[in-house]
Amino acid sequence: MSVLLDRLAAELGAGGLLTGDEVTARAETWSSPHPCRALAIARPGSAAAVAAVLRLCHEAGQEVVPHGGGTGLVEGATAGSSQILLSLERLRTIEELDPLGRTATVQAGVTLQALQDAARSAGLNFPLDLGARGTATIGGTIATNAGGNRVLRYGMMRDHVLGIEVVLADGTILSSLNRLIKNNAGYDLKQLFIGSEGTLGVVTRAVLRLREDPVSQNVAFLGIGSFDRLPVLLKALDRRLGGTLSAFEVMWPEFYALVTTPPARNRPPLASQHAYYCLVESLGGDESGDHERFLAVLGQLVEEGIVADAAVAKSKAQVAGLWALRDDVEQVLRIGPVFMFDVALPIAAMENYVAGVRSALAARWQDAACVVWGHMGDCNLHLWISVQDESAAARAAVERIVYEPLAGIGGSVSAEHGIGTEKAAYLGLVRSPTEVELMRTLKRSLDPRGIMNPGRVIGC
Ligand SMILES: Cc1cc2nc3c(=O)[nH]c(=O)nc-3n(C[C@H](O)[C@H](O)[C@H](O)COP(=O)(O)OP(=O)(O)OC[C@H]3O[C@@H](n4cnc5c(N)ncnc54)[C@H](O)[C@@H]3O)c2cc1C
Repeated sequence: MSVLLDRLAAELGAGGLLTGDEVTARAETWSSPHPCRALAIARPGSAAAVAAVLRLCHEAGQEVVPHGGGTGLVEGATAGSSQILLSLERLRTIEELDPLGRTATVQAGVTLQALQDAARSAGLNFPLDLGARGTATIGGTIATNAGGNRVLRYGMMRDHVLGIEVVLADGTILSSLNRLIKNNAGYDLKQLFIGSEGTLGVVTRAVLRLREDPVSQNVAFLGIGSFDRLPVLLKALDRRLGGTLSAFEVMWPEFYALVTTPPARNRPPLASQHAYYCLVESLGGDESGDHERFLAVLGQLVEEGIVADAAVAKSKAQVAGLWALRDDVEQVLRIGPVFMFDVALPIAAMENYVAGVRSALAARWQDAACVVWGHMGDCNLHLWISVQDESAAARAAVERIVYEPLAGIGGSVSAEHGIGTEKAAYLGLVRSPTEVELMRTLKRSLDPRGIMNPGRVIGC
């Protein structure tokens, strides 16, 4: 093993390979307070250097775990003590912003926020957005096909990637840096790697599609009297706002209570209590016209009894305040040690599903707490559950309660966080044996020695 580490150190140069205490000093993931246990951390500074690392590891049969910002929530980037963590932290350059072609060419270690800021300074917009924007990387968001707050309008990461550069397990560099929106010349190879969670190759660079920066942003916080009004509201907003609806974030009352009471910094934007709360956002191109239409549509919806109460943000600070309330998910940790879930299911099935999960939890644990919120416009719910017991047995029992009902209602065990190691055992619940077998065939063909992020997605 030391021969491989010596060869990697020689290939990567000073500071390119961390070992021993330099490794343990590194924190691994946002949700994991444990020190990094990797055999070594490789920090290549170019795609060629990534290729050299993988070539050497491939020859040696050495397992490699790609690592972006470490904000993933399914234990996808956590390396074991015999694995090499391949960090993209030195690939941080925004290489080109093309304002006319509306593309950005960026290295994989660029953070989401750095790209958003660069696009904005060119009068453009990179619309993918999520709470971990300051740390999550472009490579990580591609590898997980991240979603976030504005999928309803702009789609997931898959919808923003035009071209990709990937280093395959044997060190081959696949450069597919397409810049065209339409390109049907053969298989769309980038799609294989988007959402593959580092199991098929390492993303080193991407060409991303940018949009025009919206001129108007209107945000309101709504109180809703019953679940059946939510899909009606979603449809009405989508139609009446003329395609400008960009977010539809629903919160169950427990979530609202936690993010609006001390020690949370935010206070309730609405005077009374409601069965559900909904943050809605519209992004458009006509500042005064969009605002008038937003107010008029909300007024109609109140009159029609679909919305019980509404607080409309009147300034940029108030817009930021309402989003801060929605993004303050760490408040949920106040319920105790939590198991976090990210699931997808048809909106029509959500009310019964949540009620079923709650009653199954209550039947087994007296002090169970289940806090629910999510990007409901995208059929995506987050459930954070505490049963005041962090044991593996409790986790497995809670997982069964959350995941098993999804199979029968056309749901998914992962909406946007991916499978990682955490959900690998449940992939077969929501994917057919034929689908899983094809995934295995692809994996074997691209990574015959099984060195790329083993155990993730399809298990071993
Ligand atoms: C506060 C908070 C809010 C979040 N909100 C959302 C949200 O709204 N929507 C959402 O989708 N996610 C969300 N996440 C999860 C997380 O931010 C995303 O999964 C993100 O895409 C991970 O990016 P990363 O760079 O941190 O990747 P990492 O955590 O480093 O890695 C994630 C996975 O991708 C692989 N990987 C990383 N880089 C590469 C690469 N260059 N090539 C190949 N594989 C690679 C890793 O091996 C791992 O399997 C949130 C996380 C936090 C902490």
